[in-house]
Amino acid sequence: MVDHLLHDLDEAQVRAVTSPARPLAILAPAGSGKTRVLTRRIAWRVATGDADASHVLALTFTRRAAGELAGRLRGLGLRGGVATGTFHAVAYAQLRAHWAGQGRAAPALLTRKAKLLSPLLAGGGGPLTVATLAGEIEWAKARLVGPDGYPEAAGAARRRTPVPAARVAELYAAYEEAKRKARMVDFDDLLRLCGHLVETDEAFAAAQRWRFQHLFVDEFQDVNPLQLRLLDAWRGPGYDLCVVGDPHQAIYGWNGADAGFLDGFRRLYPPAEVIALDGNYRSTPQILDAAADVLRRAEVGDRPLRATREGGPAVSLAAHADEAAEAAAIARAVRDRRGPRAPWSAQAVLVRTHAQVPYVTAALRRAAVPHRVRGGSAVLDDRRVRDALDLLRRSDGPLAAVLPDVDALVAEADDEAAADALAAVAQLAHDHLRLDPAAPAAGFVAWLTSTVGDEGVDERRDAVTVATFHAAKGLEWPVVHLAGLEDGLVPIAHARTAAQRREEARLLYVAMTRAEDELCCTWAAERRVGDRPVERRLTPWLAGLAGRPAAGDPADAPPGPPPDWRRHLADQRAALAEAAPGPSPALAALHDWREAHARAARVEPAALVDDRLLAAIAERRPATPDELAAVPGMGPQLAARVGDGLLAALHPADGR
Ligand code: ATP
Ligand code: MG
Repeated sequence: MVDHLLHDLDEAQVRAVTSPARPLAILAPAGSGKTRVLTRRIAWRVATGDADASHVLALTFTRRAAGELAGRLRGLGLRGGVATGTFHAVAYAQLRAHWAGQGRAAPALLTRKAKLLSPLLAGGGGPLTVATLAGEIEWAKARLVGPDGYPEAAGAARRRTPVPAARVAELYAAYEEAKRKARMVDFDDLLRLCGHLVETDEAFAAAQRWRFQHLFVDEFQDVNPLQLRLLDAWRGPGYDLCVVGDPHQAIYGWNGADAGFLDGFRRLYPPAEVIALDGNYRSTPQILDAAADVLRRAEVGDRPLRATREGGPAVSLAAHADEAAEAAAIARAVRDRRGPRAPWSAQAVLVRTHAQVPYVTAALRRAAVPHRVRGGSAVLDDRRVRDALDLLRRSDGPLAAVLPDVDALVAEADDEAAADALAAVAQLAHDHLRLDPAAPAAGFVAWLTSTVGDEGVDERRDAVTVATFHAAKGLEWPVVHLAGLEDGLVPIAHARTAAQRREEARLLYVAMTRAEDELCCTWAAERRVGDRPVERRLTPWLAGLAGRPAAGDPADAPPGPPPDWRRHLADQRAALAEAAPGPSPALAALHDWREAHARAARVEPAALVDDRLLAAIAERRPATPDELAAVPGMGPQLAARVGDGLLAALHPADGR
């Protein structure tokens, strides 16, 4: 009955999914299936009766990652029940419930520290900027360091600030005081307050620990002491905790995270078991070799990645005259790789800093390449979505009561883009309710629009992703373009200590290991820094690639076989078709559609339409929506969601 949860896992993965150990840590490199194992383990434990879905909490660090987890769990058939969220979202939901239960008004949430910090610096912060001060306060709070302890802690961590640490501590204290007077709490306070409440209020603790008895954490290398304290409070004396992570992908040290908690898991949580996975299922050996070479050169580590995939094109490296020429070349390369079987969403352009994003998007726009910036606000810009959110904002009732109205809007939407965007909002509302069944409608809107941007909302449109290295963590694309691979950006100029530089190397490693089939690296020989052009050098960590013949434009690529990605994919498919008994053309078309659609929606293909149903559709070849809805296993809801796409794939000549 549960075989389908294990049949496509390797031996170590099966052990990780089925191990009775708790607590359990799964330590493994990029692309080895950690997130797959985490979600399968949840599904497996629920399916075998070892855990009740409604008592499971899957935690991660960004809302985008939480959305990804929720999507994969839905794909495994865990539609309701399992709660997913960020530490912040869960803490906030619990606090709100507590405040409401006590009849107390919730303090306002301070979403931008700058609001309180700017007036503090107005009297002359000297060289200290609001952003730097906010960063220092966040770092201190993540490390459980108050204003009094700041100078010592900052000294020990060799934090460099443009003013003496004692002055930062003064401003930090003034910020806390201003916040208290305004009856506000910031994001870090949510974690601290929730942790404190669980530690000191037995009834509250018992209620939360009963609600979430089985805790799972993805990307555990990024946990900070503040989050760890909350996690420890939540788990209480029980030890049903499973974490997965990769110390080589720790990229939030600057923000207070500490991968030592993952490395030291066995010591922290005796009697923990630690399982390692070693296969890589995401990337070609060429990509893995190049990524491992970066870690070696930066002296981060020398861990082999066992490739399981066949070889693909070589990792390319091209130099360009300046950032504009680089961006234009990337836009051309993106266009070149687009094909009937390669949707835009199969590609991503990743950059180290937000400042590089506008060059890339401008070039993509000029080349008429649809794209989305991760963390951008495209969906919230959609008029119909704004209208729907207005409706919710004005409602003074609970979210649960107005949710059917949102679902109805999805059904009534007059075009596909609006339906997709509204469906994404509805999905987020359902996820939100699972964490906080009593959430007010207006509160959901505030949470959606002000506190977290719209990461994860705009996932369904076929578009190239543009994102920073940080925002790309945990994700994957067949083709990845990395821009600006120059000393000064990679590693970033302000990374001075050896530890900071190693973190930068891990960040490059994260970026490179996002690629499945093809990795294209570029840099600019000159770039504007401030208002003057500065000569640049290639990052020392890619020296291994530079040994090969240099490439200027992709047009004058180095000798050797061109990295013809489309042909490569076609060859792979042909090889697959040869290995397996040949699928019918109808089934192949349905598979292609499902793959493209699933990738665009970032769900597992089987989550969209499972294999058995796909085969049944291929066999019956329905011609109308009614015939399609009549295929056993289809049902009207699924038909409404994916029917048009399936019929178009089955009958391409109809021009539906
Ligand atoms: P990261 O460290 O980047 O977050 P990860 O370890 O979480 O990576 P996943 O995202 O779970 O890795 O898996 C990487 C890719 O490999 C996914 O597309 C996943 O579906 C696939 N994969 C994982 N295990 C297997 C397997 N046993 N067989 C085939 N594909 C697999
Ligand atoms: Mg992962």
